[in-house]
Amino acid sequence: MKAVFFDFVGTLITKEGENETHQNIIKEVLKRAGREDLDYVEVWEIYEEESSRLFKELAGKSYVKIRDVDTDALKRVAERYGFSIPNDFWEISLEMHARYGKLFPDAFETIKALKELGFHVGIITDSDNDYIGAHLKALGLYDLFDSITTSEDAGFYKPHPRPFLLALERAGVKAEEALYVGDNPSKDCIGAKNVGMMSVLLDQRGQKRESWSNCDFVISKLDEVLEIVKGID
Ligand code: CA
Repeated sequence: MKAVFFDFVGTLITKEGENETHQNIIKEVLKRAGREDLDYVEVWEIYEEESSRLFKELAGKSYVKIRDVDTDALKRVAERYGFSIPNDFWEISLEMHARYGKLFPDAFETIKALKELGFHVGIITDSDNDYIGAHLKALGLYDLFDSITTSEDAGFYKPHPRPFLLALERAGVKAEEALYVGDNPSKDCIGAKNVGMMSVLLDQRGQKRESWSNCDFVISKLDEVLEIVKGID
């Protein structure tokens, strides 16, 4: 085993922090639109429904900018509630992600320990380059990674093989020398498996049990990755 790659949202940063971030984006958008009379949590819930529906359709497909997908989702919500979207919506989004994004408590120490063991440590993420760059810098993690591969770089979304193959190429390792850690059994585990990488599912509360068979390992805490890589070697 020579390389360990991580997914980003739900694997290195928490889904709870991501929800708080998105709620604050909606709150700011409504403030700018002069529509603070609307319940931002309710508007956020509709926005989440819209964007997750759009992103589900994109799984495995050719890359389109996530900022456009997010803006599209917000447009549908804005039409429904009758408010206008600020021109700097994406800048607001980047700023809120930087401000409210939360790492899992053992993420930093796990990455550092893997690096000390001599592993190439990378990210493979369905992200726009400006988003992941700004987010990692805000978290103080940017320089820690040996490689960052996005769907923007690869031209496709996970579980398409291209993001995984590009990451392996950048790290200069073979698929069987690499492990992928993610929180989505169908995008992360199956995507990794299809190119011959081993996969680890982070399933904190054991809620994804019906899909565990898609993954080589299942963990409830990120630092368990250290035991897995030591065990494989
Ligand atoms: Ca994820």
